[in-house]
Amino acid sequence: MRVAFFKSDCRDCGHSFPYPLLPDQESYGTCIAKGSDGRTFAYLCCLIGPGQVGWDEVASIFSKIAIEKNLILYEERDDLQQLIGKCLDPVNGLELSIAEGPICPDCGSTNIDYGDGELIETREIPEASFEQFLSLSAEDRERRILHLLEEGTEEPDFPG
Ligand SMILES: [Zn+2]
Repeated sequence: MRVAFFKSDCRDCGHSFPYPLLPDQESYGTCIAKGSDGRTFAYLCCLIGPGQVGWDEVASIFSKIAIEKNLILYEERDDLQQLIGKCLDPVNGLELSIAEGPICPDCGSTNIDYGDGELIETREIPEASFEQFLSLSAEDRERRILHLLEEGTEEPDFPG
């Protein structure tokens, strides 16, 4: 998938870097998953194909567990988003996230000015996949989601 990268500026260290954005008319049901290094990206479509199969599976196990465990979900959509990111196959060895917003590749800040910067380039990014998650048995998928939910929703620290 070729995606347009736009100039974004870190409000903390002042570094400018390219960040991929999808045009509004195409972005329904699609998003860009990001690695914690601020440089790794993958394209995820949750409306058709393998992306949809993975998304629906995570969402349905999540609802089932939420009902069974009587979980109090403060931000249900955010919790699901966190889970979806964590169930994606890593890219370049990095766990992905589909939470909103860029991460500065220099200092790890999420305090970024973006969205109306100039177009820098278009770049091919891989399609995000759920292959590892979907290769688990039904019991193991549920166990994995339960484990991720119990881990909490804390964002991992930026490495380095
Ligand atoms: Zn920065």
